[in-house]
Amino acid sequence: MAEYGASWLKDLRSSQFVTAYHRGVEAGNLPFFRNAESLLDPVVTMEGEPRLMLGSPNYLGLASHPRVVAGAKAAVDRYGTSLTGSRILNGTTALHRELEEELADWLGVEETLLFTTGFQTNIGTISALVGVGDTVVSDSFAHASMLDGVGLSRAKLRGFRHNRMDLFVDSVRRARADGGRILVILDGLYSMEGDLPPLDEMLDICRENDAAVMLDEAHSLGVLGEQGTGAAEVFGVQDRIDIRMGALSKALAGVGGFIAGSRELINYLQVTARSFVFTTVGVPAALGGSLEAVRIRRSEEGAQLAEELRRNSRFLRTELKGLGLPMGPDSDLPERTTPIIPVILGDDDLAMEWWRQLYDRGVFTGVALYPGVPPTGAMLRICPMATHTRAQLERALEVFAEVQKVMRRKAGTP
Ligand code: PMP
Repeated sequence: MAEYGASWLKDLRSSQFVTAYHRGVEAGNLPFFRNAESLLDPVVTMEGEPRLMLGSPNYLGLASHPRVVAGAKAAVDRYGTSLTGSRILNGTTALHRELEEELADWLGVEETLLFTTGFQTNIGTISALVGVGDTVVSDSFAHASMLDGVGLSRAKLRGFRHNRMDLFVDSVRRARADGGRILVILDGLYSMEGDLPPLDEMLDICRENDAAVMLDEAHSLGVLGEQGTGAAEVFGVQDRIDIRMGALSKALAGVGGFIAGSRELINYLQVTARSFVFTTVGVPAALGGSLEAVRIRRSEEGAQLAEELRRNSRFLRTELKGLGLPMGPDSDLPERTTPIIPVILGDDDLAMEWWRQLYDRGVFTGVALYPGVPPTGAMLRICPMATHTRAQLERALEVFAEVQKVMRRKAGTP
């Protein structure tokens, strides 16, 4: 074993997350890094046991769809396993262009540009567009990758409390007074809370103040909207969003991200976004798989899968609420039913204990602790898929009711 010398490296347990993490390890409750040994389908083999998967953004179940798998295999047969270099040099293939054109046609934009991951899409785009002297206005729950993009850009960050329209207006006005460019960054579907921004009202304020808008549709793409193109479609504001960001790593069953927008924007990003220029973009298997996934989503089959997902999400959310669990915000509008269902437990250890009790009974859920959520916002993050059967969801609900009793007993509450 190497001996590491610097004293400050010997105690790195200062943050809330790291401390909670270590308590989770000690209690055997740690919900993270659990090994799956099979496809991430509704039932997954994890640590030797079958578990109902209720924690995966494989929302439409496309990651194991035979056509998606065949698309991935065909891409490997044609291009091999790696593209071995930047797009700007040797690493652009006809497959990149085919996928970019398919995405542009689907979203109704002039151009799209693929990046290696959604994370890189956000950091590269934001840091290429704004800089010192500019202001970024951000919802406090905007994804970490967008906030890191702001950090890299060195623009000023003006955050406002999640979805608070009054505070948003105030931040944009202050940004206006700062001088410089204004970029507003929002998620189309918030990845932890599972809610949408009041997009139409926010866009009015942006227009009044000459603020550009970037919308992260990582979780909403393929899921929301009749055509499946995301939250902008639900609000009918596709043409008013300057920069639309999507991820391939969730409903579209691959890995990667992209920006959709004007030709002017894309031509600029492809030579200025450092996380695009100085890296290898994608692997053939993921690009080929996602291309098929987009085609399926655009077909009748995809529309049916999205409808199944909506039905499953509505059912699970309603029934969990019926158990009296502390749920996150919800919308009654069917087109705003989302497959991210938070049960907000508040306390890190409590969330990990709940997770363990569910896991031991064969149900896998996601868990979010600080800094993924606010310091007292620890939650179970439950994600149904289109491919769950009603019987599977009913079984999961029985397990939730059972665990609720166990936890009440432990807490000494009736
Ligand atoms: N944006 C949001 C809202 C996300 O939830 C995520 C991933 N969790 C990303 C961006 C990054 O996407 P990727 O996993 O493709 O890097």
